[in-house]
Amino acid sequence: MNEKLVIANWKMHGTRAANEQLINNLLPTLSELQGVRIAICPPLPYLSQVADLLGNSSVSLGAQNFSERPQGAFTGEVSGEMLADIGCNYVLVGHSERRSLYGETDALVAMKFEAALRANLVPVLCLGETIHQRRADNTNAVIGAQLRAVLQQVGIKQLARGVIAYEPVWAIGTGETASPAQAQAVHQHIRALLAEQDPDAAASIPLLYGGSVKADNAAQLFEQADIDGGLIGGASLDPAAFGAICKAARA
Ligand code: PEP
Repeated sequence: MNEKLVIANWKMHGTRAANEQLINNLLPTLSELQGVRIAICPPLPYLSQVADLLGNSSVSLGAQNFSERPQGAFTGEVSGEMLADIGCNYVLVGHSERRSLYGETDALVAMKFEAALRANLVPVLCLGETIHQRRADNTNAVIGAQLRAVLQQVGIKQLARGVIAYEPVWAIGTGETASPAQAQAVHQHIRALLAEQDPDAAASIPLLYGGSVKADNAAQLFEQADIDGGLIGGASLDPAAFGAICKAARA
């Protein structure tokens, strides 16, 4: 896989003024970068503002969450079709904060993955183990179960229309990053699980790493054989750091 993909997850941060400043700071750097695909996932109320700020640049827009339903009496929810309608290309699915804080189960995550495809969005499926699961040597089993739930729902061909992000829960927002070797080992395991179903699909699905990626550790992570880019939380709010991470991902 030559072109890496870097996705910014702003989480619940931003104001109209701060977003404008951040995008205007980032765009000159990001627009010049060749050989890397970049997407930004702001909070829902700011999607249209960020779409306007990104204009015709090569940077894509994504959302952090949505409903598994297409429309109807679901107060407070937003559908994939609505996200696509306002210019989103990507949507995060099964981020660990959604799983742990908002009770999203493997089954719901699988339904959301399918709903994203139905809306012509690229779902970014987040998988990851907690520190207890890692210490109990259950990492591969946990990742396997999270992945199988989606495979059973949509099958390998449809799964291959998405992106997978391995995000160890213990590394998200903690400042503790998986070592390049730890991350590569899990990525290799994910690739092998996919290859059991379809080697071509396994080779083509981008596998991103997420969890305290910073300007100073991005290059080492991105040079691992099965790491095709990154999902970046905290550091994506700092234009210098995010710009440097995107530069490190260039082919
Ligand atoms: C994330 O929110 O997906 C993430 C990886 O966060 P951070 O980079 O802050 O660990």
